[in-house]
Amino acid sequence: MNFMFKCSVCNFIYEREAAPEQCPKCGAPKEKFIEISEEVKEKILRSRYTNDLHMEIKTLLDTIIELAEEGIEDDLDPGCVKVFKEAKAIAFELGQKIKAELEGHMKKGKWG
Ligand SMILES: [Zn+2]
Repeated sequence: MNFMFKCSVCNFIYEREAAPEQCPKCGAPKEKFIEISEEVKEKILRSRYTNDLHMEIKTLLDTIIELAEEGIEDDLDPGCVKVFKEAKAIAFELGQKIKAELEGHMKKGKWG
């Protein structure tokens, strides 16, 4: 069972059995904390899972970019370099899309 309390002042989410005496982020008193409903909790956990997947893919894409750069530098022949450049461009573009998705989630600000 997950417990979640949200600071109504700064949206900080506290995950213990009871709300803290003071908000660790903005210092608001305990009374400012509201218990998060089961429904919203589900959404928070759900979106964390998706964010983790995005982050993991982003890490792999960064590895692809590094390998592609090594390949470009290695410069064996034009065919290889072309493929490495493509790999780098695709990985970069996908990475940007993932960043945009993650930023979108954060701007909604609802699901810490
Ligand atoms: Zn707060």
